Amino acid sequence: MNIDFSKMNGLIPAIVQDAVSGKVLMQGYMNEEALEKTKKSGMVTFFSRSKNRLWTKGETSGNFMELVSIAGDCDGDSILVKANPRGPVCHTGSDTCWDEENSSKTGFIDQLRAIIKDRKNNPSDKSYTASLFAKGINKVAQKVGEEAVEIVIEAKDDNKELFLGEAADLLFHYLVLLEAKGYELDEVMEVLIDRHSKKS
Ligand code: AMP
Ligand code: ZN
Ligand code: ZN
Ligand code: ZN
Repeated sequence: MNIDFSKMNGLIPAIVQDAVSGKVLMQGYMNEEALEKTKKSGMVTFFSRSKNRLWTKGETSGNFMELVSIAGDCDGDSILVKANPRGPVCHTGSDTCWDEENSSKTGFIDQLRAIIKDRKNNPSDKSYTASLFAKGINKVAQKVGEEAVEIVIEAKDDNKELFLGEAADLLFHYLVLLEAKGYELDEVMEVLIDRHSKKS
């Protein structure tokens, strides 16, 4: 990691981002010790200038931030932390320190895509996803067709749980089909963005 603690009195700004939603959650300062404790404990820890000691976010509130990744910036004077917050991050009770809501879960699609890619590249016997890839593109495409029919059936009824279950099945198998074909979801987005820009 390219973080230079000899700069700025050894206190480096650390920006914490929600690993799923991408929202900026809070900003604090880390010294070398805080960075080490963060990595060791897996909970984001700062050096608190007001407390004048290491401070693990959540130590009294229980709203810890579980570490996902840490990166230094281009010139080593800023830290980007990705984390999963266990509760509201700000001491005001707000989701973020900028009083924003952080309820979007759509960023999980990117995590799911990474998992699906991994199942294709490192197949294991136990993985349902790997077994889909093993059966080939036609079978995966057929599965998408089946799930599409199932959501059509549930759309006629009023059972939220069953409908959402089929919506999840369809989305999952659709992502598996894209991966089986070797295409990225971004390529689909490009088509949609392109269509949109032609209309407006
Ligand atoms: P906590 O770490 O969540 O147990 O909170 C302990 C104390 O740390 C709070 O009473 C605040 O003084 C401070 N604090 C908590 N969250 C934040 C935050 N996001 N930004 C700045 N200070 C905070
Ligand atoms: Zn910088
Ligand atoms: Zn705050
Ligand atoms: Zn289904």
